[in-house]
Amino acid sequence: MPKALGGFRSGYRTRVVSRDACKWPQFLICSHECKEIVQLISFVSNEVEFELCKIEALHMAEVLTRAAKDMQ
Ligand SMILES: [Zn+2]
Repeated sequence: MPKALGGFRSGYRTRVVSRDACKWPQFLICSHECKEIVQLISFVSNEVEFELCKIEALHMAEVLTRAAKDMQ
């Protein structure tokens, strides 16, 4: 079970699906015609809340890792 954060049970699981299975194509974060995408599914709503491709996922992870390393 996800850890409670700030009084909210917050968390996501991830799933890799083909681009055809994209739930929100108009909001998909990918401009490279990638064939597969990562979906973030909320533990709370069990809905797909966020979709992005591998390139953007790795970029996002890099940005977050850099930010986290700047924290005390
Ligand atoms: Zn892409």
